Amino acid sequence: MSSLPSEADVAIIGAGAAGLGAARALENSGLSTIVLEARDRIGGRGYTVMAAPNIAFDVGCGWLHSADKNSFVKIAGRLNFEIDKTRPPWREQSFDAGFPLKERADFIAALDAFYDRAEAAAKSGRDSAASSYLEPGNRWNPMIDAISTYVNGSELDRVSILDMEAYEDTGINWRVRRGYGALMTAYGAPCPLALNCEVTLIDHAGKRVRVETSQGTLTADRVIVTVPTNLIGDESIRFHPALPAKVDAARGLPLGLADKVMLALDEPAALPKDGNLRGATMRTAMGSFHLRPFGQPCIEGYFGGRFARALEDAGDGALAAKAIDEIAALLGNDYRRKLKPLSESRWAHDPFARGSYSHALPGHAGARAVLASPIDGRLFFAGEATSPNFFSTAHGARDSGERAAGEVAGKAKG
Ligand SMILES: Cc1cc2nc3c(=O)[nH]c(=O)nc-3n(C[C@H](O)[C@H](O)[C@H](O)COP(=O)(O)OP(=O)(O)OC[C@H]3O[C@@H](n4cnc5c(N)ncnc54)[C@H](O)[C@@H]3O)c2cc1C
Repeated sequence: MSSLPSEADVAIIGAGAAGLGAARALENSGLSTIVLEARDRIGGRGYTVMAAPNIAFDVGCGWLHSADKNSFVKIAGRLNFEIDKTRPPWREQSFDAGFPLKERADFIAALDAFYDRAEAAAKSGRDSAASSYLEPGNRWNPMIDAISTYVNGSELDRVSILDMEAYEDTGINWRVRRGYGALMTAYGAPCPLALNCEVTLIDHAGKRVRVETSQGTLTADRVIVTVPTNLIGDESIRFHPALPAKVDAARGLPLGLADKVMLALDEPAALPKDGNLRGATMRTAMGSFHLRPFGQPCIEGYFGGRFARALEDAGDGALAAKAIDEIAALLGNDYRRKLKPLSESRWAHDPFARGSYSHALPGHAGARAVLASPIDGRLFFAGEATSPNFFSTAHGARDSGERAAGEVAGKAKG
C-alpha cells in the first residue's frame, strides 16, 4: 500500500467498484493515478467476511445481477473465481411454511400485474411515485412494498416510476462462490492506493485541482469522484466553488437501506440447500431468508427500507433477534436453539456509505445523467448512482468507473 503522494495526473476518490473500475481502466494510459480511500480496505459496499471458518458472508453485494451483461463475470473468469449459477430461490417458500403454493401464485400474479401497470405508465414519460400503481385495496400491496424494500432499499412511495423502469434486469442472477467482495478485492489489488485517506474538500478554483484529505493535500489535473450519493448530498465531501446542481442531483438519488444478517445453523441437513423463507406475509416489515446458501451451514437474512432502519436504530443484534423470531415462528421454536448470530450489517450507520444503494425519488429520474456529467473537463463522476441502466449494482458501478476513465483519457489526449 502506498501513502499519499503530493500530486498525480488523476485522483480517484473512493475504492469501491467504481473507483477500482476507473483505476484499472487507466492503468495503461500513461497517466499517473492514485485512488484515495477513506476506509482501511478496498471494495466499499462490496465486502466479504468469513463469518465463521466455513461461512463466507457478503455483507454488501452478493448477486451478479443481469449476469449475462455483467462485466464482473468475465473478471471472475480471469481471476479464477468460481461462479455459481444456481437460480435464486426468491419466489419460493421452503416447506410452504406460512405461505402455501396457491397464495404464492396469487401473490406473484399481483406482483407481476403491478410491474405491468408500472411499465405501461412509464411509457407516458411522466414521473410519479411507483406506489400510485398499486391496485387500491389489493391484499398483497404490503408484500409488494416489502419486495421494493429489498430491490430499491425503499418503499414504493419514494421510488420514481421512470427510474424503476430504466433499470435493466435480464432476469439472470449468479453468485461468486468465494464472495463478490473477495472478487472485488482481487480485481482492485493492482491499483495505486492511499487507504485511511478521507477526502473532505475538492477545490477546483485554481489551475490544478486541490484535494484536501485526512492525510494532507494532493494536487491533480483531473479528479474522478465515486463516493455514495448521500455523502455528496449532505456535503460531507465539499466542492469549492460549490456545485449546487451536483448536490441537488445527489439528493434526488438517496441511498435506500438494505441490511443483511448471517446466522449459523445447527443440524443443517434438515433444511434445503438454497431454500428460501419469507418471514411473514401480508405486511411490509418482514425479513427474507436464504437457507443454506451454497449449502453452507447458515441462514442469511435480508431486511429493507424503514423496517431495516428501525432495526439498525434499535442497536447491534436487533437484526439477528428479529430474524430468529421470524424463522422460529415459521419452522418451530427449536430454531431458537439451532440458530446463532454471526454477523450483521449496519449500512445506514456506516459513515462512508450511509445507506445501501440509490433509487431516484419521484420526479428525479433525470438526476442520474446530471450527476454523471463532467465539470470543466476536470471533475468526473462515477459510482452506481450514475449508471443509466445498472444503477444500484456493483457491475453498474464498475462500468461507470470505466466510463469516467474513458472521459478522462479523452480529455488528456485532446
Ligand atoms: C446490503 C447490500 C446488498 C447489495 N446487494 C447487491 C447485489 O446483490 N448485487 C449488486 O450488484 N449490488 C448489490 N449491492 C449494491 C452494490 O454493493 C453497490 O451498488 C456497489 O458496490 C457500489 O459501488 P460504488 O463504487 O458506486 O460505491 P462504494 O462501494 O460505496 O464505493 C465508494 C467508496 O468511497 C469511499 N469513500 C466515501 N467517502 C469518502 C471520502 N470522503 N474520501 C475517500 N473515500 C470515501 C467509501 O469508503 C467506498 O469505499 C448491495 C449493497 C448492499 C449494501
